[in-house]
Amino acid sequence: MPKCRGWVLVTVSLVCRTALAEATTPPSEPVTVIRAGTLIDGTSAASRKNQAIVIRDGRVESVGPADRALPAGAQVIDLSGATVLPGLIDAHTHVMVDLATASEASEAYEDMLLKEGLAHRVVRGTLAARRALEQGFTTIRDLDTEGAGYADVGIQRAVDEGLIPGPHMQVATRAISSTGGYELEGFAPEVAVPKGVQIVDGPVEARKAAREQLENGANWVKVYMTHHSSLTPSGAMVHQPTLTLEELKAITDEVHGWGRKVACHAYGGPGLQRALEGGCDSIEHGIELDDATVARMAKQGTWLCPTMAVYYVAWAPEGTPAGRYQRKRAEVHGASLRRALKAGVKVAFGSDVGGFSWRFPIAQEFSRMVEFGMTPMQAIQAATSRAAELLGMSGQVGVVAPGAHADLVAVEGDPLRDVKVLERVGFVMKDGKVFRNALGAR
Ligand SMILES: [Zn+2]
Repeated sequence: MPKCRGWVLVTVSLVCRTALAEATTPPSEPVTVIRAGTLIDGTSAASRKNQAIVIRDGRVESVGPADRALPAGAQVIDLSGATVLPGLIDAHTHVMVDLATASEASEAYEDMLLKEGLAHRVVRGTLAARRALEQGFTTIRDLDTEGAGYADVGIQRAVDEGLIPGPHMQVATRAISSTGGYELEGFAPEVAVPKGVQIVDGPVEARKAAREQLENGANWVKVYMTHHSSLTPSGAMVHQPTLTLEELKAITDEVHGWGRKVACHAYGGPGLQRALEGGCDSIEHGIELDDATVARMAKQGTWLCPTMAVYYVAWAPEGTPAGRYQRKRAEVHGASLRRALKAGVKVAFGSDVGGFSWRFPIAQEFSRMVEFGMTPMQAIQAATSRAAELLGMSGQVGVVAPGAHADLVAVEGDPLRDVKVLERVGFVMKDGKVFRNALGAR
C-alpha cells in the first residue's frame, strides 16, 4: 500500500485503507464442491462414505453427507469413485538434495557440495518442491539444506508468492553440528572443504548460530546430536555424539525463546540422551531406542520422526561390513519404532526424501510404518493431523474440516486396506486450487 506509507493521522489512514479495500477487494472466488466417495478426514477413527466438501476462498467451508443442500452454482469435482484425504505432510524432507541411491550417496554428496553451484542447487530445490506437490504432499518440514545456506527460505518464499508450485513449507536452513560432527570429511587436513551444516564449538557459538539461522528465516533449528554409527566386533551399535549438553541447551533455550522448535538428528547412545536432556522437540530417525528412552520421550512429549524407508534403499551385499551394518541398523530401527508405539510416543511421518531421489515415491514410508506396528489409519494420521500438531498447524492442515486450508488429495482404492495406494495419488488440491487431476474426474 505505497500511497498510505508514512501517513500518521489515524483518521486519514483509515480512510485510505477503506478506499483501498473497496478498490482492490477481488470478487469472491467461485465455490467448489468435491464429492468424495470415501473421506478419510485426518482425525476421525473411521472413514465416511459419500461426503461433500464445500470449498470457498481456499478454505474448507463445510464437510458433510453429499445429499445435503449444497451451494447453487458451485463448480463440482466428482471424486465419488475415489478416496479423499487431507493433503499429506512429510515432516522430514530435503528439497535442496536429490541423492540417487544410498550406495552412491557418499560420492554424490561430495559432488553436490564441491561441484554444484548454488544456482544449480536452487533448480533442484524448485523441482523438488513441485515433486512434493505432485505426490500429494501439500505441507513439508524441510530439515536442512546440506550446504545450500538459506536457499530453502528462498524456495519457501517463491512458493508462497506463487512463483513456483510447491507445498506449504517450514524450513530449518543450515542445521548445526560440532567440529568432527559432519560431512565433508576425510580430505587432507590442509584442504579446506565446505561443510553440510554450520559447525559450532562451545555454547556461545552454538547460541550465535541459532540466532543467525532464526534471523535469516529458520522456522525450525535442526541439530545433529550423533554423527557416525558403527558396529562393535560383538555386533552392537555405537553412535558418536556431537554437541555437548551445554551446547545443545544454549540452542534450545534460544530457539524456544523465539517460540520455535528444535529438531534433533539422533541415532542412539549418549547423543540421543543429551537430545532428550537438552529439551529437543523431535527426535529424527531414532534408530536405537531402549525402553527407558521411549518412556522418557512419552513422558516429555518428544516427537519421533522415524524416517524408515530411506534406510532400505540399495543395501551393500550381505556379509560385507557395510552390508552387515545396514541390515543391523534396519533391524534395530524397526524394533525401536515398535517399542516407541507401545510406549505411546507421538510419531510423525517423515521420509528423509532427498536422501533418496525425489523421483521415487515419498509415500513408500507408509508401508514401513505399517510393517513396524502402525495401523494404516495411524500411519495416515501420522502424515496428516499428527504431523500438523508437530508443526503447530493443527486445524490448518492435515485435516478436512471447516476452516482448514483446502489441501486435499485423492487416490483410487482403499488406503486403509493397502497403504501402497498412497504412492499413486491421482488428485492434488492446494489452497482450493487443483494442481493435478489424473483421476479424470471433473
Ligand atoms: Zn534428513
